[in-house]
Amino acid sequence: MSNVQDDRHVLSRLSMVEEIRMMAYEDRNYLPSGEISEKVLSIIATVPRHRFVPAGEMCSAYCNHPLPIGFGQTISQPFIVALMTELLALEQQDRILEIGTGSGYQTAILAAIVDKVYSMEIVESLSHQAGSLLAELGYSNVQLKIGNGHWGWPEYAPYDGIIVTAAAERIPPLLLSQLKNGGHMVIPVGRWAHVQDLILIKKSKEGLIHQQNILPVSFVPLTGGV
Ligand code: SAH
Repeated sequence: MSNVQDDRHVLSRLSMVEEIRMMAYEDRNYLPSGEISEKVLSIIATVPRHRFVPAGEMCSAYCNHPLPIGFGQTISQPFIVALMTELLALEQQDRILEIGTGSGYQTAILAAIVDKVYSMEIVESLSHQAGSLLAELGYSNVQLKIGNGHWGWPEYAPYDGIIVTAAAERIPPLLLSQLKNGGHMVIPVGRWAHVQDLILIKKSKEGLIHQQNILPVSFVPLTGGV
């Protein structure tokens, strides 16, 4: 992973983390624990976000807003990355499925916390780009797949957590079926170009589904059809 000592972006990252902490405090009612944990914030403080954005966007890599990553796609705002990561209630031994690899930034955050991350991306070039960068940065616990995330990745199911980083018109039933009992799923639901709802789904130990609206968000659409 990146050598933090040698990284001239450390200060920008720390101030981004402080901004996330403050936003989380203002929005604390959205968070089951009332805050973003130090576990998540400390990882965000080390992952080199500037490597995941196009060269022209390097300077604003640490501002708290989304950025273009090519192919009409965006890397999410740091606060939303932190919030979604927190909502997954990750444990080190978890196996996580991500839909929408994009730049690989969210993948890297997850991979720094849990044992294994499976990430699907529908745009082939984005997946290849993210794969090379994640390998270069030393994330060896990530497996990528090119494909339509509506179907999930049954081979490694069930997952302790599922994170979808593009907006679905409705919750894909196959993803829900690949979530472990006791697992958490975070997904933006709603139509593209409309305000969507970030939804937290908890599957109880008995397999019952509990759904909670967290906050309004704006994501690119989950494409590819069902
Ligand atoms: N997590 C990413 C955010 C990427 S934006 C990051 O940190 O950069 C959402 C991504 O979802 C885009 O790359 C888009 O191509 C991808 N996507 C859209 N529909 C998809 C689908 N059906 N299956 C898999 N990926 C999809």
